[in-house]
Amino acid sequence: MASQTRAGTDARQPEYVTYAPKGYCCPECKQPIKSLERAIRGTAPMPAGAPAVTYRHAECPKVQS
Ligand SMILES: [Zn+2]
Repeated sequence: MASQTRAGTDARQPEYVTYAPKGYCCPECKQPIKSLERAIRGTAPMPAGAPAVTYRHAECPKVQS
């Protein structure tokens, strides 16, 4: 029943809805994110170095939740 996923208190992995730069593909459905589709920007931890920026569909057709 944890419902503290809204923005604000946890800055470790901030995710927010935006528009993906051209050329990004959604890792869920492997489809390119169109310039006018909303995308969720997040980061993926890397074994070494800075976290990688990822974009996925805000309303991905493959992930219906
Ligand atoms: Zn997708």
